[in-house]
Amino acid sequence: MTSSPTFVSARNKSYVSISRQGSLVLSDSWDSRFTGQILVGNPSRDFPIGLVDFGILHGEEPEVSGPPSQKKGAGTIYIHGCLLKCTTCYQPEFFAQRAEIYTDPQSVAKLLLEFQHSGVHSINFVVSSYNPWVLKAIKLSRAMGLSIPVVYKFSGAMSVFEAKNLISHVQLFSADFKGITEGGLAAHGLNREYETRTSEVLRYLLKNDQTVMIRYLIVPTLTKHWREVDEIIRSLQLYRYKKSKLSILTQYWNPSTRTIVGAPLSEIEEIRAICKFYDVATLYQKDGIYVG
Ligand code: SF4
Repeated sequence: MTSSPTFVSARNKSYVSISRQGSLVLSDSWDSRFTGQILVGNPSRDFPIGLVDFGILHGEEPEVSGPPSQKKGAGTIYIHGCLLKCTTCYQPEFFAQRAEIYTDPQSVAKLLLEFQHSGVHSINFVVSSYNPWVLKAIKLSRAMGLSIPVVYKFSGAMSVFEAKNLISHVQLFSADFKGITEGGLAAHGLNREYETRTSEVLRYLLKNDQTVMIRYLIVPTLTKHWREVDEIIRSLQLYRYKKSKLSILTQYWNPSTRTIVGAPLSEIEEIRAICKFYDVATLYQKDGIYVG
């Protein structure tokens, strides 16, 4: 951490390096061509936004990183801090006492324009919940000429009031829905309050014609994932909202054992059958890429 404002570059380190286990390949990887910089200082009212990292990320859903053949990637900013404490958390950096970098909305806005200039498909904020400073940066960047879509990727924990502030400024809400049954919630160490809040905000976004991608992560401790997916689809009536998709994350990165665990094909097929039954658009990670 620097003592006075200075610039840091995108570090282009691997967030989770590409690894193999059988036929499974973690799909996301940083792009080394991005040379964007951001102004940083000590945490204060002048530098209120804590970042974990930033750079161009490849291998997310095509809605985020663009079609794989175009290799555009997403200009991604990881915002420090998380309201949840999932026992399955694969991103412990979000809980570090301090962020790696502190910056201000103006600098984030400029960074978004650097991303755009480098040809990315979208801007991808990875952020636990509502963050007013992020919203301010989006507004500033639009005034400065940002024209590409903004993706707000959040944990699901957000109030309707907060979501209301975002809807005219975000083009895709990408929300985790970690569990809905008692077993599903317990697999992540989450409680019913999480599910109630997530359901409420997702219903609000869907009913207000927002484009929503619901991300469901398969974790090794839970079996019968299809029941969770079935419950999520029915509870949100996802089949009614044709602009929205379900994204099934079939590979789980365990940071403590540093291994990748993949869902058995049989479970993926069960989920595929449920989604087909309800006619819900679904994406799956397969061999490191997303397939419909
Ligand atoms: S929401 Fe994401 S970052 Fe937060 S605890 Fe859960 S897995 Fe970790």
